[in-house]
Amino acid sequence: MTTYPTYGRIDGPIAIIGFGSIGRGTLPLIERHFDYDADKLVVIEPDPGVHTFLGQRKIRHLQTAITRENYRDVLGQVFAEGQGFCVNLSVDTSSLDIMRFCREIGVLYIDTVVEPWAGFYFETTENAERTNYALRQKVRDEKAANPGGPTAVSCCGANPGMVSWFVKEALLTLAKDTGREGDAPTDRAGWAGLMQTLGVKGVHIAERDTQARRTPRPRGTFVNTWSVEGFIAEGFQPAELGWGTHETWMPENAHGYDTGCQAGIWFERPGAITRVHTWCPTPGPQFGFLVTHNEAISISDYYTVGDPGAPEFRPTCHYAYHPSDDAVLSLHEMFGSGRQQTRHHILEADEIVEGIDELGVLLYGHEKNALWYGSRLSNAEAMELAPYQNATGLQVTSAVLAGMVWALENPTAGIVETDEMDHARCLEVQRPYLGPVEAHYTDWTPLQDRWELFPEDIDESDPWQFRNVLAS
Ligand code: NAD
Repeated sequence: MTTYPTYGRIDGPIAIIGFGSIGRGTLPLIERHFDYDADKLVVIEPDPGVHTFLGQRKIRHLQTAITRENYRDVLGQVFAEGQGFCVNLSVDTSSLDIMRFCREIGVLYIDTVVEPWAGFYFETTENAERTNYALRQKVRDEKAANPGGPTAVSCCGANPGMVSWFVKEALLTLAKDTGREGDAPTDRAGWAGLMQTLGVKGVHIAERDTQARRTPRPRGTFVNTWSVEGFIAEGFQPAELGWGTHETWMPENAHGYDTGCQAGIWFERPGAITRVHTWCPTPGPQFGFLVTHNEAISISDYYTVGDPGAPEFRPTCHYAYHPSDDAVLSLHEMFGSGRQQTRHHILEADEIVEGIDELGVLLYGHEKNALWYGSRLSNAEAMELAPYQNATGLQVTSAVLAGMVWALENPTAGIVETDEMDHARCLEVQRPYLGPVEAHYTDWTPLQDRWELFPEDIDESDPWQFRNVLAS
């Protein structure tokens, strides 16, 4: 029988908010790796469909939706003893409000995205306010206004989350392979300086999900390997990226910021129909979607050298996501018809017949051209490692596990992002769940994927200009 390490004791209640694909997958990892009072574990989830599953496992189900109106009451009752861990894995619940309340009452907190209250994504009329930049900046402002105190880990899934730890591993790999091996930096300035010294111009969060089931996607159904609701919401947000100091050109529909960290720009166009040229080990060159993500801003911010308003160095950073083929077709159908599908389906581990989620970071522009570093977890391996989830899910839930361990070991670190955590410790906890974690160098650049019969307006003087990465 496999035995699993116990990483510590969680005193007081554990509340999992939201029991969708990520909540369900996180449960067995909590059960395996923490010591806690089982009768104090509660799942807060409005869907009655999970009741039987939880009942069979003797886990308390609080069948309610957390709202702006009730969150203080509901969570105040759950955490009446003033300790415990709030694991927020729900859509439509404000990460900021819930983390602020948890810190007020002395409860540890973690989430995988800066989630707003229901309605935000489609009812906010100003695009600048619908960005991840705006959502993240509010959490950064809260951290600046209230430093220290109970730990609240913001955005600790696969991406945002684990990929920030991969960036650091990739930097150390690149340093070693270019003869600059030394001690790993210990603070933000050290890491940013290392990236600058290595000549990295930017980072793609480069992902290819090849998980597929046997039957074709039924028309009118949005199929994905994780939250359909979450993907549609972020897909309709403006395309957004961290904007590096090497860029010489900006699209006409781009906007920057003069408040906050100033690391990002956004476009007047949804991310899920904005394509970029990118690269992953399995397909080689491929199109990805420039879907907005928190880590695009947080990584560019973290690795900034100098004054944020006029930096000496900052990397470009963005997501370049090729979701599963069924999800690509679902997006195509949704944007083409102007209508969201009413039927949603998340691929279950046991209906997937092939494929891997290849999720890594592509560090480019340095003397070895480009380095992809990431997890190449197959669904088949994920099924052997942990129940109730596909490969995508396990990359996320194992990051939640790592973040919870780090929070328990650092209970008064205040509000933190994954860039600010001990990446080595977090990956030590997470790695057994990631399948092959590999580094791949490539000589690919975005200048290569061109059709000579259709010349494009590109910049051949520097292959790594975003102008060349953005597909026309
Ligand atoms: P899901 O759609 O499968 O499940 C979400 C669950 O939340 C559903 O069961 C739903 O009923 C429940 N819910 C909705 N409103 C609620 C409320 N007000 N209170 C309590 N529960 C509520 O989504 P998922 O795939 O499990 O994803 C969960 C969250 O994790 C999403 O915010 C998603 O964006 C995020 N996520 C992050 C990463 C990452 O790598 N950082 C990856 C995947 C998902």
